[in-house]
Amino acid sequence: MDRELTLMVVHAHPDDECLSTGGVLARYTDEGVRTVLVTCTNGEQGDDTGGVKPGEEGHDAARVAERRLAELRESVAHLGIDHLELLGYRDSGMDGWDTNHHPDAFANVPVEVAAARLGELMERYRPQVVITYDETGGGGYGHPDHVQAHRITVAAVEATGIPDKFYYTAIPRAAIKRMFELMRDSGVDLGGFEPSDDFGTPDERVNAVVDVTPYVERKLKALKAHESQGENIFLLRMPDEAQHQAFSHEAFERKLNKVNAPDHEEDLFTGLRP
Ligand SMILES: [Zn+2]
Repeated sequence: MDRELTLMVVHAHPDDECLSTGGVLARYTDEGVRTVLVTCTNGEQGDDTGGVKPGEEGHDAARVAERRLAELRESVAHLGIDHLELLGYRDSGMDGWDTNHHPDAFANVPVEVAAARLGELMERYRPQVVITYDETGGGGYGHPDHVQAHRITVAAVEATGIPDKFYYTAIPRAAIKRMFELMRDSGVDLGGFEPSDDFGTPDERVNAVVDVTPYVERKLKALKAHESQGENIFLLRMPDEAQHQAFSHEAFERKLNKVNAPDHEEDLFTGLRP
């Protein structure tokens, strides 16, 4: 019996689903593919009401988690995602924060324990295509929860053997360069920030670029649903042209391919359709 075409995307926090995978989630849902978003943590270390940062007086981790999970549900509705699965782990915070040492922090959960739970979801949904971050947490980002999401997904893919194709999200260096040029040209004050040469995914590692131009508006709506974190989402404050460029294509590095698909693809389900 043919398996229902299914895409599973594994992310660390509420809001991570939008930028690098919001377009493919919306597009494949529209095309009749079943879509599953797995969010590993509750985002406790995000901003609290009024922009109160973690570690500041008045920051209530439980309240932040509750709000962010509500925002996540709104984002999922904008993108049309069929199934949202929450692993419910505690946000570890950015690399170097004291919260990294919390015994329940996602980054401190043994990989095999969290991977077993993710593996159960893979058994249930049997996705042909799985996406998560690369070993740096996505183009060199380095957030401990993103690195952990990578580790548990690699472990679950290997243990279950279920996906036919497995991808890492990619931010091609050439695209970053173009975006920063565009921002400079349109007079955006970058505060002297320059992306370093090793920021992003080396272009030769990018196998798949998916055009999601028709889904830019929905991605933006999904991102805006994460209102409480708006201060941290600089992409919302970019000029329209740069924003459109950043949102209109999603790139991936393919790590596993059990089907007949070329080295360079424009569709993650190439080789899987009847
Ligand atoms: Zn994140």
